[in-house]
Amino acid sequence: MHCPFCGAHDTRVSDSRLVADGDQVRRRRQCASCQERFTTYETAELIMPRVVKSDGSRESFDEVKLRAGMLRALEKRPVSAEAIEAAVERIRQQLRARGDREVNARDIGEAVMNALSGLDQVAYIRFASVYRKFQDLDEFRAEIDRLAPQGAKGESGKPREES
Ligand SMILES: [Zn+2]
Repeated sequence: MHCPFCGAHDTRVSDSRLVADGDQVRRRRQCASCQERFTTYETAELIMPRVVKSDGSRESFDEVKLRAGMLRALEKRPVSAEAIEAAVERIRQQLRARGDREVNARDIGEAVMNALSGLDQVAYIRFASVYRKFQDLDEFRAEIDRLAPQGAKGESGKPREES
């Protein structure tokens, strides 16, 4: 593994641990030449099912697109990159575990909503409101009411200010 900072070939692994329920190895590395530290993730490459869009067209599963959609919903929310990465990996696992050669785009959307509802309710609402294109305000309100009892920490529901 080349050092991403100076390009040297010699990097040492200082720590190695399993993450994402053991399906991923996270390694801390240090460059022997410039001493910079960086992290690599190692995952078995398995074939993902093809995605069937609502118009019937097919496309390859695009993890970059999946992650981008989640990051958009999670913008400025207090969720760690590590937690997001673990969620992405869980979605990949779920899709692979189905063992199907194809998966509906809709099912991926549902999986993302599930993941987001476990990470951050604001992100969930953001994603769901776009994804489901809530028909009317009542439906949107019902969804918020459904979520309100859990995780309410005495705040007035206003998003927390970033300092
Ligand atoms: Zn280096």
